[in-house]
Amino acid sequence: MTRHSAITTAYARLPIAITRGEGAYLFDENGKRYLDFAAGIAVTSLGHCPEEIGQALKAQIDQLWLCSNIFTIPQQEAFAQRLTSLSCMDRIFFCSSGLEAVETAIKMIRKYHFDQGQDRHEIITFERGFHGRSMACISAGGNETARRGFGPLLEGFTVAKPNDIASVEACITDKTAGILIEPIQAEGGVYPLDTDFLKALRQLADDQQLLLCFDEVQCGYGRTGDLFAYQSYGVEPDLITCAKGIGGGFPLAATLAKEAVAACITPGTHGSTYGGNPLAMAVGMAILDKMEIPGFYENIKETGRYALTKLETLAATYPQHITAIRGTGLIWGVEVTHSAKDIMMTCIDHGLIVTKTTSNTVLRLVPPLIIDKNHVDEALAVLEKVFATL
Ligand SMILES: *Cc1c(COP(=O)(O)O)cnc(C)c1O
Repeated sequence: MTRHSAITTAYARLPIAITRGEGAYLFDENGKRYLDFAAGIAVTSLGHCPEEIGQALKAQIDQLWLCSNIFTIPQQEAFAQRLTSLSCMDRIFFCSSGLEAVETAIKMIRKYHFDQGQDRHEIITFERGFHGRSMACISAGGNETARRGFGPLLEGFTVAKPNDIASVEACITDKTAGILIEPIQAEGGVYPLDTDFLKALRQLADDQQLLLCFDEVQCGYGRTGDLFAYQSYGVEPDLITCAKGIGGGFPLAATLAKEAVAACITPGTHGSTYGGNPLAMAVGMAILDKMEIPGFYENIKETGRYALTKLETLAATYPQHITAIRGTGLIWGVEVTHSAKDIMMTCIDHGLIVTKTTSNTVLRLVPPLIIDKNHVDEALAVLEKVFATL
């Protein structure tokens, strides 16, 4: 591409200009239609431009955009009440992006122990983990490319092996404060972690008085077939980070915490200018309204099971190209023997948008949560065509 751009080269952009979205489809400037199994990387969970959400946003636009958190914001109170009633959590800090939610969780984990008079600040993280792009987040997760040249990193993070409780135990010192983990490692290649491992982490956290934080920014908010991923696993954390799907494309994120943890955040200790603004709250509420329509989660589970069957058939047909299918609900990883980037480009050429994860051997499928079996058939028909010609 020779066209001059005034934008940083933070992204390897495709030369396709998307100008419109509708439901599970995107359209480019030439009117070409794409089935969107990327959903802005697990963001536009209710599809593109869902009507009711747009109406809620438009109504709020005429009322109030932002008034600062020095005031009581009724929409924020209401949305927080609703989210806490739907989870095991007691209080919520609202912000606008995933990294902000993770930063908040890291600060809460440290401050909680400080308030107990303890010098515990180390947080155990995991290989293949991803938590965002701020200094704290790349220190907590981040691969070599994400970290190189940005040092010195924030200290106090140790890295354990996923699904290996002994490696977690080996990281514990008298300074350990908490554990930060994605129940399904998404950017790292779509690895759902073992239920037994997450249960063992809960036990270890209880025994050692550590706080357990689930980063559900990508795998949560309906994607596993329950509102929160922890509910699908049956393991309760002390903190949850949410972003991406929670706003369906509007910047909205949240850190949910148990009362004892949230109590460490007192006036002046933390904040976010845009956090919990009325526009974002109106969107969040309207999204939950849609998600609470009976059958929403059943559809995710059933469509997910159907997708798995079809993906396994594909893998069985092309064992030389596909070595594993991983995932649950509507988050799937396809481990491939060719360049995932090349396969992704061919899929997009054929009108199906998929992405790759950090590793160039995994295709990621995170469609909007409103798709049905016909969308799965349409996507699989493209994948079939692409793998047949590799
Ligand atoms: C995307 C992601 C983040 C960062 O979210 P941003 O909104 O991009 O800051 C954090 N954690 C996980 C698990 C993610 O997938």
